[in-house]
Amino acid sequence: MTSEATVPCEFCKGKGSTGPVHINRGDAPHEWRESMPCRDCAGTGRWTAERHARWQAGRKMRAERLARGESLREAAQRMGITPARLCDIEAGRAALAPAEKPGSDGEGR
Ligand SMILES: [Zn+2]
Repeated sequence: MTSEATVPCEFCKGKGSTGPVHINRGDAPHEWRESMPCRDCAGTGRWTAERHARWQAGRKMRAERLARGESLREAAQRMGITPARLCDIEAGRAALAPAEKPGSDGEGR
C-alpha cells in the first residue's frame, strides 16, 4: 500500500461529480444533466499530489498566456500542438511533453 497524499479535485471540489452540465451533441437537442461523474478525478473527488501539481502548472501556463493576450489557438499554433491538446494541458489533464515546451526549437515545419 502506498500512502499517497491526495487533495480534493479542483474541478468538482471533491464531490466526484460535476453539474448541472449542458450537453451539446451537434444536431441533437441540447440536453441538461443533473450531474455527471467528474472526468478529472474519475468520480473519486480526489487527486494525487502529482495530478494537483500538473493542474497548478497548467493554470500558471494559462495565466501567462492570458497575460500575453494570446488566445488558446494562437498559443497552440506557436507551440505546434492542437488547441484541444493545449486545453488539456492547461487543465492538467495532459502533461506537457519536453518537445512542446514554449521556447524550444520545435520542428520548424
Ligand atoms: Zn473531480
